[in-house]
Amino acid sequence: MKVLVINAGSSSLKYQLIDMEDESVKAKGLCERIGIDGSKLTHKVPGKEDFVVEKDMPTHQTAIELVLEALIDAEHGVVSSVDEIDAVGHRVLHGGSVYTESIKVNEDVKKVIRECFDLGPLHNPANLMGIEACEAAMPGKSNVAVFDTAFGMSLKPYAYRYAIPEEYYDKYKLRRYGFHGTSHMFVSGETIRYANLPEGHQRVIVCHLGNGSSISASVGGKAVDTSMGLTPLEGLVMGTRSGDIDPAVVQFICDHEGLSVDDVLTILNKKSGVLALSGNLSSDFRDLSSAAESGNEKAQLALDAFAHKVEKTIGGYLAVMNGADAITFTGGIGENDCAMRAKILEHFDYAGVKLDPEKNKVRGEKCEISTPDSRIRVFVLPTNEELAIARETVRLS
Ligand code: AMP
Repeated sequence: MKVLVINAGSSSLKYQLIDMEDESVKAKGLCERIGIDGSKLTHKVPGKEDFVVEKDMPTHQTAIELVLEALIDAEHGVVSSVDEIDAVGHRVLHGGSVYTESIKVNEDVKKVIRECFDLGPLHNPANLMGIEACEAAMPGKSNVAVFDTAFGMSLKPYAYRYAIPEEYYDKYKLRRYGFHGTSHMFVSGETIRYANLPEGHQRVIVCHLGNGSSISASVGGKAVDTSMGLTPLEGLVMGTRSGDIDPAVVQFICDHEGLSVDDVLTILNKKSGVLALSGNLSSDFRDLSSAAESGNEKAQLALDAFAHKVEKTIGGYLAVMNGADAITFTGGIGENDCAMRAKILEHFDYAGVKLDPEKNKVRGEKCEISTPDSRIRVFVLPTNEELAIARETVRLS
């Protein structure tokens, strides 16, 4: 079975064609500048040179049509006809509080995705365009929506409700949803499988640390808490996002700088985080680490503040689950930044965590990095959201 995975953004569309026989990626690519001058498709096939098509893509539908042409291209294609694609899986940001798991798309599902435009204003409209473009270009194929919020739907009310007047929950469903859900679902499941954790010992803390960062606590693959909230702004200090702050900061900046709430939220999303703490040096941890090593105090502050918040969140989740059986690192930082992993884990001596410094040198590969006598086992496990979406698509097609 071959599954096409689509991640549609407002002016971009990423895709992968995965052969589910061996879960290998046959081709992947990116359409950029959809609806803008200078649209471009870059199509990659393992072992071959990139195939670049510079052609107008006024809509997502023209983008999908170009993707299909590339997939069946005589020279750069990987299938002989579109009929070889069995189903399509779509990353959809928000399923509101309606969908607790992935679902095969029908008119009702599209209606819910539309009703969630308010909750995911940047992504949901684009995700729906991606679905409708595939329906038009490949009539009759099953399309599956995999929601980034679904993983957070197993939280109990005491974990997802904000302590604000009930009417805002009743009227608008303002609550913690959590994001990176597909990654947390994939990595917590893979941790259980890879570590062979027996039933009753499946308390897993996943640290998805990348440009956007979040941590989840789950038992048996079901989330009990997660650090992002109504939007991805809540929680950890991130590349350019502030994470948790006192909401009164927003009013203070508005009043003193003559800015609107929208302006301040843009600052909190795009100009904050380690970028801001490092004095606008960089949001990239490689730059921050080398600057800190050369004595840059702001870069060091950014790294320390990032680690401090991760430590507090892991500590909180250890309390919530009364311990943990595994802690797993994933995402660009989690998979590659050995020094950051060691710095964070130093704080869990008390919980019996013992890191193996040799094994912790691993980058971007599946590995157990704790010692055999560590009370909580620690892993590095690369995330793979596309594969998670493809597996869900197979399950539901
Ligand atoms: P992601 O958003 O998951 O793709 O992660 C991107 C971030 O991972 C980058 O901004 C870097 O900060 C970080 N990163 C990637 N590779 C490394 C590395 N070798 N060492 C430290 N940080 C890294």
